[in-house]
Amino acid sequence: MSSRPIDKFRRNTAVNLTLRFALIFFLCSSALFVTVDFLLARAQLQKDQQLVSSFLESYERLEQDAGLHKLELVIARDAPFFQRSEMRVELFDQNGNSLLTIQPENWRSKTLVGGAEHSRDDEWYEAVFTDGSKRVLMRQSRLSDGSRISIGMSTAPREAELADSRALVLSVMVPLLCLGLLLTAYINWRALRPVHDLIDTVRSIKATDLKTRVRVRDPHSELGELAHLFNQMLSHIEQLITGMQHSLDAVAHDIRTPLARMRLSIESALSNPDEDALREALLDCAEESERIETMLRVLMDISEAESGILSLHPEPIDMQALVIETIDMYSHVAEDKGISLNIEGDETVNLVADRVRLRQVLGNLLDNAIKYSDPGRDIAIGWQKADGTVLLNVTDQGCGISPLDQNRVFDRLYRADKSRSEAGMGLGLSLVKAVVEAHRGTISLTSEPGQGSQFRVSLPIIAGAA
Ligand code: ADP
Repeated sequence: MSSRPIDKFRRNTAVNLTLRFALIFFLCSSALFVTVDFLLARAQLQKDQQLVSSFLESYERLEQDAGLHKLELVIARDAPFFQRSEMRVELFDQNGNSLLTIQPENWRSKTLVGGAEHSRDDEWYEAVFTDGSKRVLMRQSRLSDGSRISIGMSTAPREAELADSRALVLSVMVPLLCLGLLLTAYINWRALRPVHDLIDTVRSIKATDLKTRVRVRDPHSELGELAHLFNQMLSHIEQLITGMQHSLDAVAHDIRTPLARMRLSIESALSNPDEDALREALLDCAEESERIETMLRVLMDISEAESGILSLHPEPIDMQALVIETIDMYSHVAEDKGISLNIEGDETVNLVADRVRLRQVLGNLLDNAIKYSDPGRDIAIGWQKADGTVLLNVTDQGCGISPLDQNRVFDRLYRADKSRSEAGMGLGLSLVKAVVEAHRGTISLTSEPGQGSQFRVSLPIIAGAA
């Protein structure tokens, strides 16, 4: 349990990113530091070698032009410079005996050992004091008379200068590294704030409260877009849940009526148990239970169509044949009311759709048009092709729908007040809309109260294809 906060810290994306950046930062800076150090060391070495070489060359020339004695005089003249610069000059005769040695005062008590005896003329080598206190970069040359001269230079000033440069570079680099780390941590924290908002919002959402939304900090960034899409998804879920709650309330309300009627029939039959009363009660119960069953079946169809799991069986359909077929089913009801059904459409129109479902769509629209029209009125059914779609219209001269109701007639179980006198469950138009949309089509309505209504369905020519 105690390791939990540490685990959380370790798994924190901002911390992880910062540590990774820190590692990359550190590796790059180290590589830079090593390269700069190497270049500086090489430049310093070349500078020292140039100085030693220039002395050697000028002394060689001098010995050649003016002789060894003159050289000794000049070296003695230059002695203060060599002592100041921690340099050592030694002159040997042809037999290797030392003729002259110039070096700083404090070098006298020390013995210098090194590769002089093994190294050839004009080669660089390093000699070391026996006490290990200093290293000397050396080179020797043979003079024209066979004598030799060696010049060396302590590596200490060069190393001190290098150490100074390193300290300077480090004194700039370390604070820069720390500042970079702090900035990286801050940038990571800022960049990940929308993600934390998202997490907080998801945590705070409960089934009963879907109103919470994620704060969209920068709508133009990817995370802003994600937050926006997440909010859209929440709104959609909220809408669906609210719709489900309303449907559930409406279903509960609408089921209560037939159930109450069934109970009433049963109770009255029980209080008067003669055969006719029992038969009538059973008939009532069968009728009411059929009503409930139909309602539940249609509700399930709507839900399946809305959630995209309604299985459609697309097939080529001759639009005119389908309209005539459907009209035949309603012609008796229309005749009884003295309503004439007029068809007017392009007889060449074909489309691919689910025949049974399309008949259901047209049937429901026709059923409503007849139901909500006064006797003696006309109903027109028309269809035509337009821009890759088939447009189907059902126009009546019925009671019409008020603008307020027009927004709600496609809701489940919604019935306008003045239609209460007609039989119905308020599910027909919801089913029509769900089936049309499952075919990737649209439905729209224009209506004038007292004048009539027109429902327009638009279906893609290959409507049933996924
Ligand atoms: P219902 O079973 O009540 O007819 P619908 O879903 O088919 O259910 O229709 C919902 C409501 O829309 C109806 O109750 C009615 O008020 C209104 N409506 C539908 N079609 C028409 C129409 N052609 N003319 C007037 N009102 C209509």
